[in-house]
Amino acid sequence: DQVVDYDQWALVSEVVLNVEPGLLDEKNTLAFERFTSDGPLALLPISTDQHTYSLVWCAPLAQVQKRLTCTDAEFAAELRQQFGRRISIQHIGPRKSFPLGMNWRDKLVQGRRVAIGNAAQILHPVAGQGLNLGLRDAMQLCRAVDPATVAQEHRLALALNEFEKSRVADRRVVVKMTDWMVKGFSNHNPLLGAGRQMALNLMEFTPPLRRQFAELMLFGLAV
Ligand SMILES: Cc1cc2nc3c(=O)[nH]c(=O)nc-3n(C[C@H](O)[C@H](O)[C@H](O)COP(=O)(O)OP(=O)(O)OC[C@H]3O[C@@H](n4cnc5c(N)ncnc54)[C@H](O)[C@@H]3O)c2cc1C
Repeated sequence: DQVVDYDQWALVSEVVLNVEPGLLDEKNTLAFERFTSDGPLALLPISTDQHTYSLVWCAPLAQVQKRLTCTDAEFAAELRQQFGRRISIQHIGPRKSFPLGMNWRDKLVQGRRVAIGNAAQILHPVAGQGLNLGLRDAMQLCRAVDPATVAQEHRLALALNEFEKSRVADRRVVVKMTDWMVKGFSNHNPLLGAGRQMALNLMEFTPPLRRQFAELMLFGLAV
């Protein structure tokens, strides 16, 4: 089993934005992520009829505490400064925070007890992959067991053992990649910064690579 403390917390809230015309698609389905040197900052669309976003702003605890206790006006000004001047904040909902870490469980199966989703692995939200991975855990578990299997102890043990093995590669790739992104993007080393920028540019200007990466993120490794 493995536990990593990233020394980062996520401040979450719901915000309504005023957005510069032309910045968003018509249906308002674009999500934004900025990699700041303290941690990622993401705005994820919640509604398609107005510019309401779920805000996830990751940073060390002291900064998060400041942002939890400052006034709405101060918070809006700092968010705008970090995110860019093409948005302004119309409304900020209640602010909450969560500690961020990685938690990996080697053994998913104990008798008839099976861990999936957050019970199997907890990820940093930098890549937004926790729910996807948990859904793939659930899907694979459904494939592995059926009522006839559950009724027979021996068959069930074999099926769950197969399930556990079948999840290793996909879980490991996503957890490692997420861990790499947290460490690589929250780092002040200029050499690493240049490499990071090159990797992002490569993605930006190579659509097939971007598509493959998105498919890996959405569907995981083929099982
Ligand atoms: C700030 C943040 C942003 C995120 N953003 C994304 C994202 O953009 N995309 C993405 O894919 N993932 C994201 N995630 C991860 C995502 O939230 C999790 O992967 C997902 O919630 C896991 O679902 P789950 O059902 O496995 O566990 P949980 O959501 O943790 O649900 C477990 C539930 O079980 C309940 N429970 C616990 N113990 C007991 C008990 N003994 N008895 C009864 N009930 C119990 C809990 O109260 C909870 O309601 C984010 C996570 C965080 C913290």
